[in-house]
Amino acid sequence: MQSYPLHSLKEGSWFKLICGASYQHLPVVRSLAVAYSLAGADCIDVAADLAVIAAAQEGITAAKKQLKCENLPDNSPWLMVSVNDGEDPHFRKAKFDATQCPIDCSQPCVKVCPAEAIDLNQGGVLDSLCYGCGRCEPICPQSLITTNSYISCLSEVIPLIKSLGVDAIEIHTQVGHYDDFKRVWRDISPIIGQLKLLAISCTDAPNVIEYLRSLYALISPLSCPLIWQTDGRSMSGDIGRGTTHAAISFAHKVLQAQLPGYIQLAGGTNNYTVSKLKQANMLGKPNGAGKPNLVSGLAYGSYARAILTPTIAQLETALQLNQVKSIKNQPMNQLNLKLEQNRELLEQAVNTAKELVSQIKTANS
Ligand code: SF4
Ligand code: SF4
Repeated sequence: MQSYPLHSLKEGSWFKLICGASYQHLPVVRSLAVAYSLAGADCIDVAADLAVIAAAQEGITAAKKQLKCENLPDNSPWLMVSVNDGEDPHFRKAKFDATQCPIDCSQPCVKVCPAEAIDLNQGGVLDSLCYGCGRCEPICPQSLITTNSYISCLSEVIPLIKSLGVDAIEIHTQVGHYDDFKRVWRDISPIIGQLKLLAISCTDAPNVIEYLRSLYALISPLSCPLIWQTDGRSMSGDIGRGTTHAAISFAHKVLQAQLPGYIQLAGGTNNYTVSKLKQANMLGKPNGAGKPNLVSGLAYGSYARAILTPTIAQLETALQLNQVKSIKNQPMNQLNLKLEQNRELLEQAVNTAKELVSQIKTANS
């Protein structure tokens, strides 16, 4: 039986949720995985971090239980982990020393942060919440904020790929990283047979098509399907409607190159992307991986997370209230602890997620 995510790729209706290559807030990752799994997502993309992978897996399993389809694992989204081969904005954390901040600073960094990752009372940036968007750095009038890049540690994840239930790996690369990509590929290639999918994410740059061709020559023949993730304007989908243009124009460029593999947009995707793609005649059934003349799907990151933030915040408030009750030795109301256990918030979250997922799911009908 063909799995549903693969079917979506072939039909041009693939939806991927990006939780964030650096995002490590476990309860939020879990809630996002529950809501988007129930809304019909084909893939949940998370950081290469054992705890984050476990949280997403728990969310997917909880969603399957809700659907009472534990015996139909092919209907659940694939779990993807994102890794990088070198410096990449998705793999960095902001930092500053809050003791250096002037007392009268109006704290524009706090206001601009989409992840509520800055808290001066807790020393500055909360590492697990920061996903590296970089918006805080230029806004600080004192130039106190810098970012630390890192390279994903694959050694922990690779031996556990199967037992962790990881279905796919995405390698983030950039033009000029060929030798670094080769190094990462050397680690991944021995376990490629255990994967259902490989994705390569790249941003636009001069000579990008030649670069992608060189990567394809390196990884082929490939035993699983391949996605080219055309990353337009990284981590910007929640900023406004205009951010979607860079993602579309880069996808168009890669489509013209007729590279073997599926093409999926990211970086600036939001509520406007599907309608813009329709206007550009870039949606439809791509007729398999050999003829990528249309895009196969979309990945949403900051926008998908932002639309669920109010609901998840309500869940956190409910949890805090429960903790207070438990301290007072009142019975703990388990019904508010997890998204799937709070019917009202679950429905709210799934309906919101469905509004986004259904855009690509119904685009070709
Ligand atoms: S604005 Fe972006 S980079 Fe800065 S702390 Fe928030 S998430 Fe991290
Ligand atoms: S904007 Fe700069 S100086 Fe002001 S609170 Fe933020 S980090 Fe401190």
